[in-house]
Amino acid sequence: MSASAFAQVLRFVWRYWRRSPRLLAALVVLRIASSLIDVATPFAAGHLVDAVAAEVRDVGRVIEALAWLLGIVLAFQILRSAVEFIIIRFTADAMSALVGEAFARVQRFSADWHANSFAGATVRKITRGMWAFDTFTDAMVFQFAPAIIVILTISTIFLARWPMLGVLVTLSIFAYLAVSIGLSVAWVAPASSAAQALDSRMSASLADALTANAAVKAFAAEPREEASFAGLTAAWKARTLVSWRRGAYAGIAQSGVLLGMQVLMLGAGIWLWARGEVGPGDMASLVSVQALVRGYLRDIGQHVRNAQRALNEMEDVAAFCETAPHVDDMPGARPLIVSRGEITFDKASFGYAAGAGLLFDRLSLEIRPGEKVGLVGPSGSGKSTFVKLLQRLYDLDDGRILIDGQDIAGVTQASLRRAIGLVPQDPALFHRSIAENIAYGRPDATPAEIAESATLAHADLFVEALPAGYRTLVGERGVKLSGGERQRVAIARAILAGTPILVLDEATSSLDSVSEALIRDAIDHLSAGRTTIVVAHRLSTVQRLDRILVFKAGRIIEDGTHKELVAKPGGVYRRLFETQNEGALSEDPDEEPRARRFGWRSRVFS
Ligand code: ADP
Repeated sequence: MSASAFAQVLRFVWRYWRRSPRLLAALVVLRIASSLIDVATPFAAGHLVDAVAAEVRDVGRVIEALAWLLGIVLAFQILRSAVEFIIIRFTADAMSALVGEAFARVQRFSADWHANSFAGATVRKITRGMWAFDTFTDAMVFQFAPAIIVILTISTIFLARWPMLGVLVTLSIFAYLAVSIGLSVAWVAPASSAAQALDSRMSASLADALTANAAVKAFAAEPREEASFAGLTAAWKARTLVSWRRGAYAGIAQSGVLLGMQVLMLGAGIWLWARGEVGPGDMASLVSVQALVRGYLRDIGQHVRNAQRALNEMEDVAAFCETAPHVDDMPGARPLIVSRGEITFDKASFGYAAGAGLLFDRLSLEIRPGEKVGLVGPSGSGKSTFVKLLQRLYDLDDGRILIDGQDIAGVTQASLRRAIGLVPQDPALFHRSIAENIAYGRPDATPAEIAESATLAHADLFVEALPAGYRTLVGERGVKLSGGERQRVAIARAILAGTPILVLDEATSSLDSVSEALIRDAIDHLSAGRTTIVVAHRLSTVQRLDRILVFKAGRIIEDGTHKELVAKPGGVYRRLFETQNEGALSEDPDEEPRARRFGWRSRVFS
């Protein structure tokens, strides 16, 4: 991870830690107190041993020493439990905020961003980041903070009481930390991330083969898929063995250093005893101290590794939080108020990539209130971009787009999008009931209103034939419905939403003629009295519209009614109409029509 990414992740963690300052302060105080009390345990044990070993039998002193020891153990347990309860609350608060905010941010990223990202991968990045936050916080609170406090306190006590022993202990602790963290980070971690990379590739390959299961079946390719998967598992196994073995070797090396440290501490203790500098109590303290230190240090390498991995896993979600949404509301943006539904493009210029040239160069156009306009032209000529600019999914490079005289760049995006109803080419539905899908644009609609708009959209017949009617779940993205049925649900949704402006992207996929007639009729209901823009792919639709705009390479080359355009000698639309009477409208009119190219039409029909 680069230094700037590392800093970004730390900023990200800190941002959520400081959300609950009181809980954080309580955590810090209690954690320090509990660690100090834990350090006191060996010395209390030493006192007890001294009391028991004293030459004069003094039951009172023994009981007092015992009470101290038990009191300390009890206090430690209480503080530890308190830390646990606080951290439960602390992380649950932070994690829910984190995941909610990441979702909110990602939802608002540009349409482009979403088009270029796999939804599944984004989901994984967010949830993985959320759990990594938990791992990292736990490692800090339960492993590193107490280990550091304990090590510092013990070194200080030893240096003050037995300077030579103190120096030895401090040096050996640092030697241990260097060995275990060094091995862990520089030797074990690379092997384990290599193994993890293969782990991800294994999941991706499983997902790929299982999603395309129909193709696998069709070609009886199961053995082939299994063989290629077996290759991956073999590689995974080899790498994982390396990583686990390195972990085990590192463990042996750490235990070696730890054992050396214990020998050193106990040997020095015996030496001090021989010189008459320590008694039985001190000796008992020393034995417990080395056990305590060992407990705190034993798995420190592993914890460092886990923390490191958690930081890596938070990298993406941290980056999301610092990525600005590409289109933002202006300061002081006001809601759009649509009274008539007039749309004006005023010298609008726009290009996708900076420096790559403009798609629209000072495009000016006026669409009258209630007008029904068809956009026609070869694919790539800018029809969809025209619609996206109207929705302000992108900002213009220059010029303005006005709705009823209000510049859409200066109104809130929410009000703008709420004013524009959209029926996409292949509507993606939510895996929710049909009723919820229809009511998506107006969640408070009554069942009667939902049924009414379904009837207008000709969706009522097929919905009522479904086993659970309007309560039927439609499957992920609506897979349980046919393309024509999905479109009718989307039309019903738009009818119910009742937006003053409407954008329809006609389905290109061939619908059967019954569906097509139903959809055409549904669209008539939908567009009555509303400004309507249709990205048209069929002649049958365009002819019925008030006005047709023919696009070519970002320019509007013809503009008029069907009648006018067909009457225009040498016109592009006229040529389209003549040659592709039954075909789609979005092919390039300059290209030789397919029918003529293959010559079948003349042979069959003439
Ligand atoms: P149409 O809807 O008429 O098929 P589009 O508006 O989708 O045309 O595309 C117009 C031009 O802009 C095409 O050259 C296309 O390649 C380009 N384009 C469309 N979307 C993007 C995008 N997200 N990023 C870059 N270029 C794009």
